[in-house]
Amino acid sequence: MTDTYKALIANNDPEFSVSYQQIGEQELGEGDVTVAVEYSTLNFKDGLAMTNASPIVQKFPLIMGVDFSGTVVESDHAGFQAGDKVVMNGYGCSENRNGGYTERARINGDLLVALPESLTSRQAMAIGTAGYTAMLSVMALEEGGMTPDRGEVLVTGAAGGVGTVAVVLLAGLGYRVVASTGRMEETEFLTSLGAAEVIDRQTLSEPGKPMQRERWAGVVDCVGSKTLANVVAQTQYGGVVTACGLAQGADLPLTVLPFILRNVQLQGVDSVHAPMARRQEAWRRLASELDIARLESLSFDLPFSEVLDSAPKILAGQIRGRAIVDMGQ
Ligand code: NDP
Repeated sequence: MTDTYKALIANNDPEFSVSYQQIGEQELGEGDVTVAVEYSTLNFKDGLAMTNASPIVQKFPLIMGVDFSGTVVESDHAGFQAGDKVVMNGYGCSENRNGGYTERARINGDLLVALPESLTSRQAMAIGTAGYTAMLSVMALEEGGMTPDRGEVLVTGAAGGVGTVAVVLLAGLGYRVVASTGRMEETEFLTSLGAAEVIDRQTLSEPGKPMQRERWAGVVDCVGSKTLANVVAQTQYGGVVTACGLAQGADLPLTVLPFILRNVQLQGVDSVHAPMARRQEAWRRLASELDIARLESLSFDLPFSEVLDSAPKILAGQIRGRAIVDMGQ
């Protein structure tokens, strides 16, 4: 009897549908490295993909899930051998490339990152795409000249996946972090992660003036739309704002005034096509700089069998912190 593996598959025959299926080796697709997947995660993008609220999936049938961690079981790639621990995220997983919601994955080894030794597979997915995006955002702030002595850093969407890890990272680096959330009942949680102050996201989410009182030296924005417009309008002279998300919306009702009068920098953050050297640097820094105890406190296990039912919850902003998808359950 040949082995089969449980996977969450998107189909479009005749309409978009997602279901758990048992697949064989031939359905794992092409690649020179085969991985026993141990963990994946649930991201906002996974919620969009599984519900088809946005047309994320471009190819059918496709294994869903934007990331995974696990152990190499077979490799024809010079950089990897059986037993190596690896991480995969982005590069079109769950868009036009098979993703991580599968017990077994086959992938091009050029797209894999070797897991830093100090991290377990589970910790890698406690970080996941969200944590790695948070690290890319911190790196972008630093490249814009941000240092803790410049002033406060705001994190929007703070109780979500990217936001929670950004709070932990920035607090660990010595910044005074202000967390913006729609869930003020999570104030104690956000404070325990390192936020010095928690503000209600409603103070940022309505249409605002093009120039507002200067407050933030830096901002990690996860929500876009009016919130991003307001935080840019509130950023200090020479401050840096990073934009990675669209949880409030993809629109950006902004003027050029903060850029031409206050020298504000707005830096986009893309995790999907980030070059390999930047990925490796982000994972290296996560392994050495992220407070793992705090990371554990913001993560919870989600059985693989429940990931599909959890899709609407992440879109509704009901998931706190990082959901680690345990492929063994
Ligand atoms: P989560 O759903 O975990 O977090 C998003 C958070 O945004 C929510 O927890 C909530 O935080 C806040 N939020 C939700 N709805 C609204 C709203 N209507 N108005 C204002 N705030 C809102 O998602 P992730 O952390 O996984 O991702 C965050 C964003 O970053 C998403 O838009 C995602 O698509 C994007 N992303 C982009 C990447 C890239 O490569 N550019 C990579 C990874 C993610 P709270 O309850 O605290 O208010």
